[in-house]
Amino acid sequence: MARAKLDEVTKIFTEDDGSEVVAVDDVTLDIDDGEFLVLVGPSGCGKSTTLRMVAGLETITDGEIRLDGTVINDVPAKDRDIAMVFQSYALYPHMSVRGNMSFGLEESTNLGDDEIAKRVEESAGMMGIGDLLDRKPSDLSGGQQQRVALGRAIVRDPAVFLMDEPLSNLDAKLRAQMRTELQRLQNELDVTTIYVTHDQTEAMTMGDRIAILDDGELQQVGTPLECYHRPKNLFVAGFIGDPPMNFLQVTNEDGTLIDHSFEYPLPPQVASAVEGTDSLVLGVRPEDIELEPDQSRADDHTISATIDVVEPMGDENVVYLRLADGATVARPDLAEQDAAEGTDVNDAAVEGSDDAKGGIAGESRSTIIATIGGMQHFDDGQDISIRIPPDAIHVFDADSTEALHNRTLQDADAVPGI
Ligand code: ADP
Ligand code: MG
Repeated sequence: MARAKLDEVTKIFTEDDGSEVVAVDDVTLDIDDGEFLVLVGPSGCGKSTTLRMVAGLETITDGEIRLDGTVINDVPAKDRDIAMVFQSYALYPHMSVRGNMSFGLEESTNLGDDEIAKRVEESAGMMGIGDLLDRKPSDLSGGQQQRVALGRAIVRDPAVFLMDEPLSNLDAKLRAQMRTELQRLQNELDVTTIYVTHDQTEAMTMGDRIAILDDGELQQVGTPLECYHRPKNLFVAGFIGDPPMNFLQVTNEDGTLIDHSFEYPLPPQVASAVEGTDSLVLGVRPEDIELEPDQSRADDHTISATIDVVEPMGDENVVYLRLADGATVARPDLAEQDAAEGTDVNDAAVEGSDDAKGGIAGESRSTIIATIGGMQHFDDGQDISIRIPPDAIHVFDADSTEALHNRTLQDADAVPGI
């Protein structure tokens, strides 16, 4: 067991043409002994590179990686007491399951044959593959192969587990089952684990803490519910949660949020939190939006909308709503891209809205999403009011993308990890 620390770690790749790619940018992370840390972010954000530096499979351009206080930058991979599990399983095809699991121990330890056999049987039992030990990988299902890959890591009894999208090749049902199984196993073994995924559901459900990475930069580190309820910026707010948080581009006029089609007065403490910032993004999660069929009951915090499509999920309905013309749904992905190019989020949201570049919401302009109970019935095309409860709103600075205000939690003590 060990405490793993990344101290201002940077990785720059130099391409053949001499251009540089900053894959990991000044990342600092402190992973506690026995902690399950999930490193999450979109494809290409630097997750695998980070993990590979910890494993010793990639050199470190700048910064330090420590295990229990000892800098391991120059320690060869085989001497790091770390076991890594890959998405591709990376099993030796010509070896039996037993051979795959015992190979590492035979190579890198001086354990006797009996001890190795005992450990392999134990780990195989733990992974539920005890009866498959004499099979070849080609005679196993994908799920079974992944169990062998995990078993091979466990058998080494390492100080740290590194897992790079280990469940991505499994079908949805098996993935859900393995999620809980892996958590139980990690609890039992109590081995420090860094688990990489692009899947926010895995991050939310598995991590003691999650570290959210975008474009090589760490955005936030916290418990899953902390990141969900108290996102530090637009990126985290849009990345964590499914369906994602809704974003509306607004201007702040003396504590009232103004859009072409609505005015939303802020509660006093929120107004003071955003005072002096004109260009804002209003965020609200789909489950917090209330649908009011009787438009005569509109109040200060309702907005007119039309129901576009209702997707019945059984337990809940996902309702896609169109706001009155002129309302602008902010697109944080564009905000980020364009911030780099020096334009502001306002222009980006308007100009870039129709050619969906796979925005965080994945939705075009003026669509917002509400989730409601499965028994609540609405019709496509129905005109309604949507109520955005003031205590559920998040407000972001549209230029810096930083959160200026996060929702209030009625009973924060009841939310574990906050
Ligand atoms: P993730 O695992 O989050 O999808 P990676 O860590 O694989 O992301 O990649 C991060 C960035 O580094 C990407 O832009 C990727 O193209 C780049 N990259 C990764 N490996 C190399 C390499 N060997 N040479 C050049 N660029 C690389
Ligand atoms: Mg990767």
